[in-house]
This record gives sequence, C-alpha cells and structure tokens, in this order.
Amino acid sequence: MSFAQIKGQQRAVRILQKEIASLSLAGTYLFIGPAGVGKTFTALNFAKALNCKREGIDSCDKCSSCLKIDHLNHPDVQIIKPEKDSLKIEQIRNLKREAAYKLYEGKKRVWIIEEANKFTLEAANSALKIIEEPPPDTIFILISETKREILPTILSRCEIIRFSSLSSEQIREIIINHLPQNLSKISLIMNLSRGSVKKALFLIKEENILKERDNIINKLNRNITIEEIFELVANWKNFDEEQLEEILNMTLFWFRDLLLLKEGEDIELINSDKIEKLKEEEKRYSYFTIRDAINTIEATKNYLKRNVKPKLALENMWLKLKYQNLQ
Ligand SMILES: [Zn+2]
Repeated sequence: MSFAQIKGQQRAVRILQKEIASLSLAGTYLFIGPAGVGKTFTALNFAKALNCKREGIDSCDKCSSCLKIDHLNHPDVQIIKPEKDSLKIEQIRNLKREAAYKLYEGKKRVWIIEEANKFTLEAANSALKIIEEPPPDTIFILISETKREILPTILSRCEIIRFSSLSSEQIREIIINHLPQNLSKISLIMNLSRGSVKKALFLIKEENILKERDNIINKLNRNITIEEIFELVANWKNFDEEQLEEILNMTLFWFRDLLLLKEGEDIELINSDKIEKLKEEEKRYSYFTIRDAINTIEATKNYLKRNVKPKLALENMWLKLKYQNLQ
C-alpha cells in the first residue's frame, strides 16, 4: 500500500507529500480524526515514503524498506500503543534510550504513538522534551481522536493534520473492493463497522468473528443455561483483545437495536437483517431491562481494557444478562 491507495484523506496526504517534496518536515505531527479512518495507516505510509529506497513523494511499495514497514519489522519505524489503557513512563524511557542510538538502516526514524491522549501525567512530562525537540532524523506522529486530552505544551509543538470521516459511499467502495458479489455481507459489515474502515477491514479478515454474531443473537434469544454460558465463553478463549471487543460490540448492538425499537425507531438498526427477530424480542424486554443490559456490557468492555481476566468478565456478564432478562 502507498499514499495513492488511501481513500478519503486526500487533504492530509497532499499536505504530507508537499512537506516531503519541500523537505520541510515537522519534528512532531499530530494526526487527529475519528477512529478507524486511516490515521495510523497514513502514518505508516508517510514512514514508507520517507524511508523508501526510491526517492519521491510516495513509496515504491516494493523495496526492502517498504516491505519491512508493511510487516511492521523495520527497526527505525515503530508503533507505540497504550499498555493497559495508558502510555506509561517506562515506554517513554525506552524511546529515549533508543533515541540515543544512530538510525539502524532507514533515512528517518518514525515513531507513531497511538492514542496519544492516553499519556499518564508522568509519561507526558517525561516525553515533553523529546517531543518538543526530537533528535535529528526522528519524527514523532501522535495519533488521537481529539486534542482535548493532549497537554497544551505538547499541542503547541505539533503540526496538526486533520483526518475526516468517510462517507458511507466511500466505505462501501472499500468493502466492495475486498468482498465483491456478497451484498448481504457488505451491508452487514457496513452496519457493524459504523464509519470505521479499520473495523470494516477487521471484520472482513476475521470471518469467524462475524459468524459469532448469529451464535450470540441465538443465545440471547432464549433462556441460556449456565452450562451453555460456560461453553460459549470457552469458545472464545483464544480470542485476543480486539476480537473480544468485537464480540462485545455485537452483543451491545443487539440491545442498542432493541432500545431503538422500544423508542419507536426502526431506521438505522445495525442488525437490520434480523428485523423480525428484533421486533419479537423487543416485546419481551422492558425499557429498563434493556438499559441494564447495555450498562452491563459497557462495564465489561471497560473491565477488559483494565486487564480483568476475560473468561471471568465474560461469564459474569452473561450470567448478569441471563438474570436481568428474567426480570
Ligand atoms: Zn520503497
């Protein structure tokens, strides 16, 4: 992939390419915009263009440097993510240690910091100096959905590049490129990904997660036994954090749809292909039972982010849903 393949972010790409061409690169960038619209993806392509063996404003997508970045194993290009929901001081200390060394093989060291709004105060203070004045040939790209929680001192040192939401048409086009001739699946993925290309691509890749939706809906639809709960959760034991989050989202979306129906809305349902089932189910629940279920699932999502054992959190959630449903 190269800049040329990025959809819907032409403005951001144009600015970055102009800076490559004029050699007027900032030390620190802040990529701001909604989740899943291609911020990290663009950052990686920026790193590719900067390090490509072929000089130019876009990468060749073929040289050893481009391929290494694609496989996330280029020693000079790194993605740093929050650990247990925050960017910690140890992570910044590691960066600073590495910054003292020369570049391994690339032309520019590019450090991409995802969810840059999640620095602990300690980590933010420690990062301040290096972000204000990165070492030569080092570029930081901070990624965030908003600039609200970013320290003003950091903010004042960044060049801000804005990313916009993609239209449903643009998202549909991207999905169709990956899933030709499967109209029902395309609409389902459109609905479940809710404007996030990243999610749409994830659901296309992880077919088993998509298949779990039917299983979840069927289990929510009847009086699930405790044994069935244990069995259901055991099926997910090898799922990672991202996969479990999607499982929880699918459970959440079902109740979200029920809530919409309860409020008399039947447009914009995520599970619109299951409208008959939803209407039937909606009669079984009170407004408050649906609200309680939503709160239970939201709380479980937070527990998982805080590293509570997934098995425990999920079993607990299903038990709660079971008893809440009986009210
Ligand atoms: Zn290349």
